[in-house]
Amino acid sequence: MTVDQTDDQTDAQIDAQVADQPADNHAPTATARCIAQAEAFGAHNYHPLDVVLARGEGAFVWDLEGRRYVDLLSAYSAVGQGHCHPRIVAALVAQAQQLTLSSRAFHNDRMGDMLEKIARLSGYAKVLPMNTGAEAVETAIKAMRRWGYERRQVPEGAAEIIVAGGNFHGRTTTIVGFSDEPEYSRGFGPSTPGFVLVPFGDAAALRAAIGPHTVGVLLEPIQGEAGVVIPKAGYLTDVRAACDAQGVLLCFDEIQTGLGRTGAMFAWQHEAARPDLLVLGKALGGGVYPVSCMCADEDVMRVFTPGSHGSTFGGNPLAAAVCIAALDVLVDEDLVARSASLGERALARLRREVRGPRIADVRGRGLMMAVQYHEPIARQVAQELAKVGLLAKETHGTIIRLMPPLVISQDVLDGALDAAIPVLARG
Ligand SMILES: *Cc1c(COP(=O)(O)O)cnc(C)c1O
Repeated sequence: MTVDQTDDQTDAQIDAQVADQPADNHAPTATARCIAQAEAFGAHNYHPLDVVLARGEGAFVWDLEGRRYVDLLSAYSAVGQGHCHPRIVAALVAQAQQLTLSSRAFHNDRMGDMLEKIARLSGYAKVLPMNTGAEAVETAIKAMRRWGYERRQVPEGAAEIIVAGGNFHGRTTTIVGFSDEPEYSRGFGPSTPGFVLVPFGDAAALRAAIGPHTVGVLLEPIQGEAGVVIPKAGYLTDVRAACDAQGVLLCFDEIQTGLGRTGAMFAWQHEAARPDLLVLGKALGGGVYPVSCMCADEDVMRVFTPGSHGSTFGGNPLAAAVCIAALDVLVDEDLVARSASLGERALARLRREVRGPRIADVRGRGLMMAVQYHEPIARQVAQELAKVGLLAKETHGTIIRLMPPLVISQDVLDGALDAAIPVLARG
């Protein structure tokens, strides 16, 4: 395995960096080299485990040294359909040879099929395609604000959107501005005004926060990055009722929870709390290509008029071909039902077998599960899991998320739990 090199200078720099690293031996292995390059030339905005992945298939990934792992993160749920799903990859390759980008200055022959498929699957009349999750959330924020000005006669510039403590909706300046996680927002101000924070899971607090300038509520039905925080039963229904009573919009960010992750197609379906706006991403592109969208009915979507919003790559034919295949796989392989049944069994087992003084909580819904510790030892646990061939990632120091691809077989999942449980329980 060689790594692309641009010039000798670069090479020398990297080797120096590698030599500085505490390695078992000083020969710059391909693994050490990849890590050193990321350190040397990349911004240090992530703190990955020391694993260099080179191949993936279904629920498995392999590192550069040929070690096989079961993926228990699924790229934060983006790889719901499994790594390199042959149908999705075939759709990508075929489309790449036909047309990759039209821009929205012209129509293309694939976008319509994608929009219709998402609309039928989600039950919304209209779909606005974007690329990343954060862009689709921004789209929803714009839609709610403009709807408020046009339909609720909120004074220009005064619109408020209610969001929840512990939220994660992406990394744009506006979005991190209403995060209460200091690590996401520190030093990036001034933050965009017009957001009101209420505690997640407290419907009474949310109801009380709705005022004359409120245009909408933006929530994750289950908070993913916060560590699989599941609100108590009835919360989503109560929030829906509060929004209805006051005539404000409800938007669910299902970028992580949507498309089967929680054992329902959408997490809102667990409480029949259908939002006015639904934001999707991650698994919408099958782990192959970034695809996101905002879904809404006509009443909301008509706030967008020509020139009011857009994206050069949004709705491109390559994205459309991949998205269509990703959704076909989800439906044809019955991944939502798999997530529900595999998740239920796995969670029951984790609850039974992962116990002890260090364990604060074991929770989950479908194949979105988490183990929480009293102490900030989750990174150490993730490192131990990697040693036994399991890839998971800590969040907030105390929580390990367990989110395998939805295509994982019962046998592989059972085997992964056999290996994981002693590590998780030991902490
Ligand atoms: C990942 C995620 C996002 C951001 O998606 P990007 O594609 O990284 O911009 C937004 N909301 C939720 C709930 C997410 O999990």
